[in-house]
Amino acid sequence: MRKNLTVLLLAAWTLSATAQLPDSGTFLLHKFAQNIGKEHYSLQYSETGPQYSINFKFVDRGSPVPLIAKLGVTDGNEPRSLIIKGRTSRFSTINDTIRIKDHTALIRVDDSSYSKDLGPLAFPVAGYSPGTVQMMLLKYWESHGRPASIPILPTGAVQIRLDGEDVIEQDKPLHLNRYVISGLVWGNELLWTRADGQLVCLITNDAEGDKLEMMLEPYESLLPTMLTRAAGYGMEMFTRSTVLPKARPTAIVGGKLIDVATGTSIDNSVILLEGGLIKATGKSGELAVPRDYTVIHAEGRTILPGLWDMHAHFEQAEWGPAYLAAGVTTVRDCGNEFEYINAIQGAIDGGKGIGPHILKAGIVDGPGATGLGIIRAANPAEAVAVVKKYKDNGFVQIKIYSSVTPEVLKAICQEAHRQGLTVTGHIPEGMTIQQGVEDGMDMVNHVQYVFSVMKPGKDRSVDVNDSANQRVFRFLKEHGTVMDPTIGVFEMVFRNTKDDITQMEPAFYSLPLPLQALFKNMGMPPANAAQFKPILESMGRIVKTMHDLGIPIVAGTDMGFPGYSLDRELELYVAAGLTPLEAIQTATLIPAQVMKQDKVTGTIAPGRRADLIIVEGNPLTQIRDIRNVRTVVKGGEIYDPVKLHSLAGFGK
Ligand SMILES: [Zn+2]
Repeated sequence: MRKNLTVLLLAAWTLSATAQLPDSGTFLLHKFAQNIGKEHYSLQYSETGPQYSINFKFVDRGSPVPLIAKLGVTDGNEPRSLIIKGRTSRFSTINDTIRIKDHTALIRVDDSSYSKDLGPLAFPVAGYSPGTVQMMLLKYWESHGRPASIPILPTGAVQIRLDGEDVIEQDKPLHLNRYVISGLVWGNELLWTRADGQLVCLITNDAEGDKLEMMLEPYESLLPTMLTRAAGYGMEMFTRSTVLPKARPTAIVGGKLIDVATGTSIDNSVILLEGGLIKATGKSGELAVPRDYTVIHAEGRTILPGLWDMHAHFEQAEWGPAYLAAGVTTVRDCGNEFEYINAIQGAIDGGKGIGPHILKAGIVDGPGATGLGIIRAANPAEAVAVVKKYKDNGFVQIKIYSSVTPEVLKAICQEAHRQGLTVTGHIPEGMTIQQGVEDGMDMVNHVQYVFSVMKPGKDRSVDVNDSANQRVFRFLKEHGTVMDPTIGVFEMVFRNTKDDITQMEPAFYSLPLPLQALFKNMGMPPANAAQFKPILESMGRIVKTMHDLGIPIVAGTDMGFPGYSLDRELELYVAAGLTPLEAIQTATLIPAQVMKQDKVTGTIAPGRRADLIIVEGNPLTQIRDIRNVRTVVKGGEIYDPVKLHSLAGFGK
């Protein structure tokens, strides 16, 4: 009975506002464009009022991520309560209860309870999931006169903007309203609704930073279109508020210019940039600065080539400015959504976005339930087709994922090499690094694949001088295998959560709040962390041993603290025994060589692309100075890291 009454009341009310939402719906959840689960909501009527009952669940690489939520509203659609319990990623849980009454919120987050006095606006929304709560948040924003900011519970605030209208051409053109929400996850989320307010598509990031897409059930086939548009709109938000720099004739004068190939330097140097290239380098007083050049003073500073991140996953537009701000002018994207990374790269290269140069590695996995993404190869014929698809779209490398079979691995490597592509990736499950390399892999991601074939000693620590272990190193050396260790990932996972996080990341408290929340609890209780310490130290010794043998080591982050984790990776190499110069080479010279870009960039020399950074202090004497990037030059375009960081939501 009550239900019918409420529906009538709502119907009357909505005539003057917006149309009424359907009472139920299903969103299909996607990661790497693959449907991995769903969220179903239904509106129910209890004694206390209308309530959205929400069941959310996806399975990510074999790990279930279930979530149950109940959002109570009043007959006028004001929020009354939110109860949410379950997982928000493979590695994180949530257990929140929020009740709103008489301008007070009673909040319980895990085991702690407190109350909060509320102002005129407040909405309970505990994160990116479930989509239904964000749909109701949009309705709340509309019905309260589209306020600039809405405080959210348990903590934070969101900004919402109607960004425009999209018309999707199909049998009958589909008109969708496009909204941007910021403050819930790092950066901007994009949401599309129908005229009745029904959420059709939400593109967000889950609690491990992976892009997650929710598509209302009948619209799933629009996903590739939405991904392409999301990349364009995400980038456009930066270019709308900033004037993109143009490469103009520029002279950088007075700094200490480092030749990363030799470690030699020119004090009081002059570097002339023109047409996006380095035109000449020399000494002040010897190399004249043409009159029409803009001069950048670099006294007391060190000039290095732009840095590389050899293990990026560019899963949201904010990576662009965040990378550049940290001095990263080139990344290898180690696996992404096909449409998304193509559109991101297109926007940046086409002058419609902000970000580093991108070299794309196309990800491929085998069939099976634990696989990742929609690009799979189950047999050699499919392997050939995947390589062709990537090659035709400008990818320079294939990234192997964990459930590729040995037969398919061989076929991928053969075809990739035939097409002039190289192969990197995970060592597929059940194989050793030696088998992966024998089957044709040129490069390997993550030092764990070396660690796991080492003879274990006491405490699982590794004796790098052991003869069996030496054989592994020699094998990799003989095969010219390139390694990106991502040792910073292991440091983060094995971290003692009681330790001060600023030792690992000095800029931690300048990170956007959603990122701080995401990383704060990553790690282990002290006792467990102590057990993993010998492993982390062994990984350092493995990197140092490989480096000394001449195995190319390239620095990569696998995301982490956006941009800054590259600095951390270099610090960890120095802690493992590399000199600061050797560490810097792993993020400049060596990646350029192994990616066959060393005639283009990677060093500061005439004819090379003008990719360089001006750094306060001298990272060659103290590696931590690599964090003090004051000016970034990418292809001759001059960027200010402070402004870039503010575009990426840092420093607030
Ligand atoms: Zn990765």
